[in-house]
Amino acid sequence: MTCKECKTVYPLEAKYVCERCFGPLEVAYAPPAEIDADALRRRIQAGPHSLWRYRDFLPLANGAPRGLLPAGWTPLLKADRLAERLGLGEVWIKNDAANPTHSFKDRVVAVALARAKELGYEVVACASTGNLANAVAAHAAAAGLDSYVFIPSDLEEQKILATGVYGTHLVAVRGNYDDVNRLCTEVAGEHDWAFVNINMRPYYAEGSKTIAYEIAEQLGWAVPDRIVGPIASGSLFTKIAKGFEEWIELGLVKGAVPTMNGAQAAGCSPVATAFAEGTDICRPVKPDTIAKSLAIGNPADGPYAVELARKTGGAIDAVSDDEVRQGIKLLAETTGIFTETAGGVTTAVLKKLAERGDIDPNERVVAIITGEGLKTLDVVRGTFEAYEIDARYESFEEKVDLPAEVAA
Ligand SMILES: *Cc1c(COP(=O)(O)O)cnc(C)c1O
Ligand SMILES: [Zn+2]
Repeated sequence: MTCKECKTVYPLEAKYVCERCFGPLEVAYAPPAEIDADALRRRIQAGPHSLWRYRDFLPLANGAPRGLLPAGWTPLLKADRLAERLGLGEVWIKNDAANPTHSFKDRVVAVALARAKELGYEVVACASTGNLANAVAAHAAAAGLDSYVFIPSDLEEQKILATGVYGTHLVAVRGNYDDVNRLCTEVAGEHDWAFVNINMRPYYAEGSKTIAYEIAEQLGWAVPDRIVGPIASGSLFTKIAKGFEEWIELGLVKGAVPTMNGAQAAGCSPVATAFAEGTDICRPVKPDTIAKSLAIGNPADGPYAVELARKTGGAIDAVSDDEVRQGIKLLAETTGIFTETAGGVTTAVLKKLAERGDIDPNERVVAIITGEGLKTLDVVRGTFEAYEIDARYESFEEKVDLPAEVAA
């Protein structure tokens, strides 16, 4: 691992801050020696239909672990109706709701847990905004590890239920995510546990790169022109770029890192605010938004996300809760994909970029949909109405609007 700031090199241990400058540590990728691009592509294609097909690019000593929940290899769908609605040429949806616990967090947990097992940990833990709780509890259950999952106590009920069911130690903290995270940093100092997003964070973060690899492979070994993706801590957003960068450097794909557009909810938008103000200092905020999975008021990778958006000619935008609801509806109505609030944020920002004329019709755009709509059901309540009728044909005729040609 190397320090992102001063470049000091460290061994692959459960360590996450630089001893010299307190900068974050990042796994430094070393390409498999003596393998050329064609051989590497064949090796990937012969691998399993999960993120372990990219094991050569992940920080594990013993290759792909067996017997865990297979994460990744989610669908990349061409969204022509959405593109048409937005006046865009080519839009793709990377549907990461199609993971074992229905969010992209299965990727980061798969990698962090595999490394935690290699390092000999018997207890895993996390501080979560919701989806990470589901993933840690499930993957720990599959791996036979003890787990402690810390969440803000006001989390969506669906996410709490879909965590507790796995038999984890579920700790509901009276406070917001940033309070939970602070508490967990303290707990991590007292107990020798593998906190997937604290002391295991460099490994956790590497899991996100696999979204970029999959998109490139699914597009026929090509890089899209633009990525639109959500930002909470900024880890996913920055690692997607790292994934493309690594493959470009290796010659697995041609081109440049895509234009990177970040998406936040206005009720928790420290990164979008920093971008708008032309600084990379993300002033912490107190989150107040329906997009709870993105509600991190003090984002660890915020400055790197701002820098990345600027460097690639992208931007970081924020959308209101109302726009988030409309984003969820827009995606559902045009693609058949029901996403949670984070996906609503991403779709709403895509719409905003299209309306602002930021996207050229010739561009190939990929929107990263990170979670499942059934986990945040409450936010779509009241956005439509069912016809209530009696169980008689007359009642059906009387109450239900029929398609024009049938009614005539
Ligand atoms: C965690 C999460 C994200 C982004 O998280 P980062 O901290 O920015 O990596 C995006 N969408 C969903 C649904 C999430 O759960
Ligand atoms: Zn350092």
